[in-house]
Amino acid sequence: MPPTSKPYRDYADLLSELFPWKMQKLSVNAGFTCPNRDGSIGTGGCTYCNNASFSPSYCDPSDPVTTQLEKGKAFFGKKYADMRYLAYFQTYTNTLAGNERLLQLYTEALTVDKVEGIIIGTRPDCIPPKLIEALSLLSNGQHGRVMIELGAESSHQRTLTRINRCHTWADTVQAVHAVHTAGIPVGVHLIMGLPGETRDDMLATIDTVNTLPIDMVKIHQLQILRGTRMAREYACPDTDIRLFDVDSYLDLCCDIVRRLRRDIAIDRFISQSPADMLIAPRWGLKNYQFVHLLHRRLAQTATENAST
Ligand code: SF4
Repeated sequence: MPPTSKPYRDYADLLSELFPWKMQKLSVNAGFTCPNRDGSIGTGGCTYCNNASFSPSYCDPSDPVTTQLEKGKAFFGKKYADMRYLAYFQTYTNTLAGNERLLQLYTEALTVDKVEGIIIGTRPDCIPPKLIEALSLLSNGQHGRVMIELGAESSHQRTLTRINRCHTWADTVQAVHAVHTAGIPVGVHLIMGLPGETRDDMLATIDTVNTLPIDMVKIHQLQILRGTRMAREYACPDTDIRLFDVDSYLDLCCDIVRRLRRDIAIDRFISQSPADMLIAPRWGLKNYQFVHLLHRRLAQTATENAST
């Protein structure tokens, strides 16, 4: 990892080590479903999930992967002429098909002009060894790199049970090791503020993540979205769900930055779901605006600590 003056390693740092171009993610909705909704692993889905919040408007699952990527390129290509792209299989569980079908979709994405890699978002219990082996071969082939993002959310089993993830933390540990051993960059998603978790619980998840061979984390605050089971829980007068305000979340993120292993890149700190889907918290902040506030808070606390 090269030295950096930033307070942490960010996702752009990771990408610049893997690719010699400026990279932009393009979301792809390949029409997958979710095994925690279709009954193959669970039913009802994770209590906080409204998957419609993940998909940008240029992703129509009825369009072929190539068409979706070309639409995305037309949108972002106007910003930087020499931009290269990562196809982000983001919506639902993007490993939920036979290997032949999956490899066909991933290879299609990798052969689109200027697409230099793919990112596959999936559950830790949905990435079998044979698929990892095939992805390792694909990643070392001529078309481009493969990266994997696993939805871990929390290291606490009682939380995973409460939010109906229908997988265990042991599944995450096993999947991370398997993907890493195959030479594929791997990251985990984490949610801060899940029901029943204290601040110490959240930081304990960061400590546990530090023990894993991961390259990246993507973090966001708990959001209550319309149409979810958690929205119904949140509406109960005796709910124990406590959402962060910006100030307390900034403090938590400062602690996360200080605790997270320095070689792990942080992709993002907040998520901003579409306004018509979001019940709370309504911060009205984009990730880059939050990052600006965070850097200011980190600098401020560093100055205070130096003067005491
Ligand atoms: S978060 Fe992922 S695993 Fe959970 S219900 Fe939504 S799509 Fe399924």
